[in-house]
Amino acid sequence: MFESLGNKLQDILDRVGKERQLTEPQVKAAMREIRMALLEADVNFGVAKEFVAKVSEKAVGQDVSGSLNSGQTVVKLVHDELIQTLGGKSMQPELKAEGNVWFMVGLQGAGKTTSTGKLAAYYKAKGRRVLLVAADTQRPAARDQLEVLSKQVGVPVLKVADGETPAETRRRVDEHLKTDFRDLVIVDTAGRLQIDEALMDQLADLQTAMQPTETLLVVDAMTGQEALNVAQTFDERVQVSGLIITKMDGDARGGAALSARSVTGKPIYFAGTSEKLSGLDAFHPDRVAGRILGMGDVLGLIERVEMADLKAMEVKKPGDFDLEDLLTQLRQIRKMGPLGDLLKLIPGMSKALPEGFNVDEKQIQRIDAMISSMTLKERRNPKVIDGRRRKRIAAGSGHSVQDINKLLKMHEQMKDMMKMLGRMGGPGGKGPGGK
Ligand code: GDP
Repeated sequence: MFESLGNKLQDILDRVGKERQLTEPQVKAAMREIRMALLEADVNFGVAKEFVAKVSEKAVGQDVSGSLNSGQTVVKLVHDELIQTLGGKSMQPELKAEGNVWFMVGLQGAGKTTSTGKLAAYYKAKGRRVLLVAADTQRPAARDQLEVLSKQVGVPVLKVADGETPAETRRRVDEHLKTDFRDLVIVDTAGRLQIDEALMDQLADLQTAMQPTETLLVVDAMTGQEALNVAQTFDERVQVSGLIITKMDGDARGGAALSARSVTGKPIYFAGTSEKLSGLDAFHPDRVAGRILGMGDVLGLIERVEMADLKAMEVKKPGDFDLEDLLTQLRQIRKMGPLGDLLKLIPGMSKALPEGFNVDEKQIQRIDAMISSMTLKERRNPKVIDGRRRKRIAAGSGHSVQDINKLLKMHEQMKDMMKMLGRMGGPGGKGPGGK
């Protein structure tokens, strides 16, 4: 599913054109597809529309410069805006030295109880003294489930009894804290399958009694479109302070995260990544942005291309392509990382490449060594490399004369190829032949 969307987006962006500035029709064409992509990733319709309007405004007139073509420029703009909408950087809930009370809310099945256990494990490992409160009186097994988790983590749990009032729960927690100091109390609350008024009243009452310092809404990534309603309602009734998105290990694309974040404006602190206690990760907006676009690591690729100085790779006239240019190009490409890894960042390529495929790094190193053993005069004008010089270069680089011959032949072939491409107008108008 990821792959197909990434490929589609790339196709559209390629068609967007190769102008120096993004025009309105180009942006319009690209944004239509991006809105579709967002909807396919289960981003709420209204959120997608608003998002696209915001990016379009920024995109029109944007310079297409440097190493990125216009398609890549649009992708980067969209990706950057997605990251911003998802909160920019990774954030953590505020933790005071003591007196922290966290309220876990969400629909039944969202992963509240599991996330409560995960948070206990996470913060215990950070040296916090955690007390769990099992207040989910709605789902029959929830309190026992939390008790099991608390034993696994090694933290105490206080189980709320049936019919207990919020005031009584508060008093029992205070009593507990008098004899057993705890700086972080996490309360697992009741959830229902759907939003319902009685549940919200019950939650609001318990919240008033417990006075939590954080109210964390647990949202199931698989709920997609529904996430917006859930987030909105919970936020209106119990003033959510942060979000946890669970089940990100499934094939949900992350649209729920974008919707919940957009509608509440509250930070997403964590992502649930498995059923296990250890399956809780800090939420990384950049990773999820890529996932929403279904782009694999195209952006990683773009970043690496930006990092390498591609200007150095451009050769003025194809006929001028000498060994010094070849060496520069090889080194630029190697700066971007292992070639096999690089190719796999291209959408669809991981499938197209045979199993265990790897570009021969050693071969590239050998060429580098041979060219490095030449004088600058030899590199600029390979014609001067006669038999005597070949012997010297071979000895200097630890190769045979045949290897040097092969290299010189390869270079000649590359030069011919570039001349030919040059006559054809070059690949995409950029690069060696396109000038
Ligand atoms: P609650 O009703 O909100 O308390 O939901 P639970 O904590 O009981 O979770 C419901 C189901 O979702 C359980 O089977 C959990 O194991 C599962 N679950 C919770 N979080 C995650 C997660 O991040 N990844 C996966 N794969 N499953 C999860």
